[in-house]
Amino acid sequence: MTETTLTVDLDALAYNYGVLKHFAGAAETGAAVKADAYGMGAEAVALRLWKEGCRSFFVARLAEGQVLRRALGDRDASIYVLDGMTAPADGPRLMAARLIPALNSLQQVETWISYGDQRWLEAALHVDTGMNRLGLRLEDARALAKNRAKLAKMDVSLVMSHLACADDPASSMNAAQLERFRTIRGLFPAAQGSLANSAGTFLGVAYGFDLVRPGLSLYGAGASGRTDKRLKPVATLHAPILQIRDVPAGETVGYGATFKAVRPVRIAILAAGYADGLPRTSASSGNAWFANGKRRILGRVSMDLMAIDVTDCDEVAAGDMVELVGPNITVDEAAHAGGVSAYELLTRLSLRATRRYIGEA
Ligand SMILES: *Cc1c(COP(=O)(O)O)cnc(C)c1O
Repeated sequence: MTETTLTVDLDALAYNYGVLKHFAGAAETGAAVKADAYGMGAEAVALRLWKEGCRSFFVARLAEGQVLRRALGDRDASIYVLDGMTAPADGPRLMAARLIPALNSLQQVETWISYGDQRWLEAALHVDTGMNRLGLRLEDARALAKNRAKLAKMDVSLVMSHLACADDPASSMNAAQLERFRTIRGLFPAAQGSLANSAGTFLGVAYGFDLVRPGLSLYGAGASGRTDKRLKPVATLHAPILQIRDVPAGETVGYGATFKAVRPVRIAILAAGYADGLPRTSASSGNAWFANGKRRILGRVSMDLMAIDVTDCDEVAAGDMVELVGPNITVDEAAHAGGVSAYELLTRLSLRATRRYIGEA
């Protein structure tokens, strides 16, 4: 390894899938693989999860679904598109790739059943239970449940909703949404139910219904914004040292001169910056891992470069590799130091780094 590299550990992914599966109890464990599987590579991730028994995949955009269908070939996987149908022209594209739209308004339901003369009309119904993001309002779902003629024109195989505050187990929103979802779920007895993301899955089996759809925790990040030791790290970002510099006391490092050396420091300049997904403001509390220890990030992270403190390292040379995210600097820790969520950190790590996979494909 000589360049900035994102290593994706597929065995760790499989391990985390097993953890989520354990918490899902009797519910099927699906996977959110939107945004290129949170930057880990949707194709490799989906193929490995398929091997682990995963049969239901969730993407946001239709185009992501098309890519995933191509990757999965003729495997009989259910691929749900969370955007639903954004335009009537989506119909033929969804059908051609055998994608299941998560219909999230009565308008979308109308558009989907307008393809009723076609054979394949499986759909998920996304019902809003309090988040006010996507989904039919409760009253619209109730009206639809009563409209047998309309329902006969499609195969609603899944009724789903999304939790707004599952990362906070103490939030009263969780129980309120659970209650509303139970009611809605009862209106569509033939369909399966799905409510839980990663955090929802950890809330307990009451939240599991028939299918859970975790994303974040499959990729090793804690569901409540903190490192979760039950999970294994999937993403590791390494960057090479480009140069070692001795900075005399009184001089500064980086843009804005935000770090000033009060005594002489030896710093290493790394080939990593915010264009590689490291938050620009990581220096306030961020660390890298080098030579068996945490090393402070110094000054502002620039687009392509950043500096760390290697004053206490006996041996350090250009070309040495430094861990910025991974087993020693967890995704949650790096995200917290940079003032971003683990979701944001993960999805950006693959922006420029060379991605490589370890573990069974
Ligand atoms: C992204 C997403 C998920 C997965 O959420 P995580 O918090 O990453 O586990 C599940 N359901 C919906 C609707 C989503 O948008």
